Amino acid sequence: MTCALITGVAGQDGSFMSVLLLEQGYEVFGVVRRATSERYENLDGVRDRVELLHADLLDELSLVRALEIARPDEVYNLAAPSFVPLSWEQPVLTAEFAAVGATALLEAVRLTVPAARVYQAASSEIFGDPIDAPQNESTPIMHVAPYGAAKAYSFFIVRSFRRRYGLHASSGILFNHESPRRPLDFLPRKVAHGAARIALGLGLTLTVGDLDALPDWGGPVATSLGRSRRRTQQEEPDDYVIASGETHSVRELVECAFEHVWLDWREHVEVDESLLRGKAELHNLVGDASKARDRLGWERSVDFTGLVQPARGGRPRPAEGVSRLGVW
Ligand code: NDP
Repeated sequence: MTCALITGVAGQDGSFMSVLLLEQGYEVFGVVRRATSERYENLDGVRDRVELLHADLLDELSLVRALEIARPDEVYNLAAPSFVPLSWEQPVLTAEFAAVGATALLEAVRLTVPAARVYQAASSEIFGDPIDAPQNESTPIMHVAPYGAAKAYSFFIVRSFRRRYGLHASSGILFNHESPRRPLDFLPRKVAHGAARIALGLGLTLTVGDLDALPDWGGPVATSLGRSRRRTQQEEPDDYVIASGETHSVRELVECAFEHVWLDWREHVEVDESLLRGKAELHNLVGDASKARDRLGWERSVDFTGLVQPARGGRPRPAEGVSRLGVW
């Protein structure tokens, strides 16, 4: 039985990844930090089949112990802070988790299971202020936010370990991908939740920062992760952009979400300029996933309108509509 160890297993991507791997007959170990509440809602349904190990990316010895117990064939490093704006408030912690932590894990893998295949979750934020659009694996790194800088370090250190030690380590340069497992401070989830609340009479307005921002939103998450898994099975480790290749404005997102609950978004959406991330940070981030398509056979399974659609199939009745990004 192939064995995988997933860090950040209780997060959005980690929980989807554990389901995917279990379905494919893997034995799955998941790394969690010790927390006051060990509820791990995202793992409902698979909790009894995922062996949880306590470790922290900042504690290399704890990672070594986890790897010695699991002896994995594949390691997925999905643990990191994931809310980009917060990285301005916690730049040191962001660097420690996303840059130093990724290095600690690579070092622990090298010492304990050097033949294991490693997948590192990098991010489109490494391109920050890109000179080209769309961005691909050759686009120069021009990170802006501390999160992007830390992820850029993780991307480079994966390359270093690959080159120096021959580690089978690959990076996924992931553009935004969404699901109901995102916390409410992520915009698509916030919009879906807000539209549903208003439709149910539980609220009147939804506040957003910038209707003209143009993210590259992909999803659902399993699409990217399915490809991530195939990535570790490539004979040669490499780096791959995973992206929808399209941008859609926040205006389109709210339009689409409110249409599903039969409401006119203009009557309910307010703009709060204090929520703007700022022109210094928001640039034309849109990914070119041709390499992943050509070499891995990657295809996105859902387009933008498919992403923002009722969760339970069919067009919802008024006051019932909730998007796939939504509240349940
Ligand atoms: P989540 O925030 O949902 O999950 C991250 C997980 O990492 C959480 O379970 C968190 O645990 C854990 N974690 C954080 N710090 C540590 C640490 N020091 N030691 C152990 N565990 C830790 O993020 P996603 O699942 O959405 O993202 C997965 C990865 O992909 C992340 O690295 C993210 O940066 C990257 N990524 C995601 C994108 C997206 O659109 N989702 C886009 C680009 C990159 P806890 O609950 O204890 O905090």
